[in-house]
Amino acid sequence: MRGRTIVAVLAGAACAVQGALVALGGDRKLLRPPGSQGERDLMARCVRCGKCMLACPYTAIAPAGFDAGISQGTPFIDARTQACRLCENTPCVKACPTDALRDIDRITDIHMGTAVIDESRCLSYRSLRCEVCYRTCPLIDSAISIEYSMREGDAIHATFAPVINEENCVGCGLCVERCPVDDGGSAIVIEPRTGRLRATS
Ligand code: SF4
Ligand code: SF4
Ligand code: SF4
Repeated sequence: MRGRTIVAVLAGAACAVQGALVALGGDRKLLRPPGSQGERDLMARCVRCGKCMLACPYTAIAPAGFDAGISQGTPFIDARTQACRLCENTPCVKACPTDALRDIDRITDIHMGTAVIDESRCLSYRSLRCEVCYRTCPLIDSAISIEYSMREGDAIHATFAPVINEENCVGCGLCVERCPVDDGGSAIVIEPRTGRLRATS
């Protein structure tokens, strides 16, 4: 009887820990490597073997930490530290033994997320010349372009503002890695994709 009580207590504690982990990681969206087909699919298939992490020549993929809750140990990319370089042969995808990462034949098949610009912090939107994100983008003039406009009430100075094309941005995060704004973070971030792939024509 005493043994059963101990088992019940341990089971209860395990549930509590699991609950705490879920709560801890509940709202955190992770930027997943190329070939992820959405959170549910990745969580169902990933066995946390780390092979995608070892295969990445840029060490862009890391295991999610304790603060990721139930996602701990699954692969993610911190774009500000080291963005995905969109390798042509996607070694991370090829290394995955469970197809948690899959279906990438060309770079444009990748959809890790979408870049979002904080216009209140972006230098270009404040009429300074920057455009680092634009020039660094591997899909320049497709995923990101520059829109030119005259400043309001100013006949001399113009604004050259980067604009994201959500359809073509693959979410690699190179723009985030290189953004020179660093007042507690970059002026551009990646909104990670959580659902399944967008429909393709
Ligand atoms: S595509 Fe290349 S750089 Fe990007 S995560 Fe995979 S292996 Fe790393
Ligand atoms: S290689 Fe596949 S199964 Fe292994 S950690 Fe990466 S995504 Fe998960
Ligand atoms: S995340 Fe940034 S660098 Fe990558 S494709 Fe999108 S706009 Fe270009």
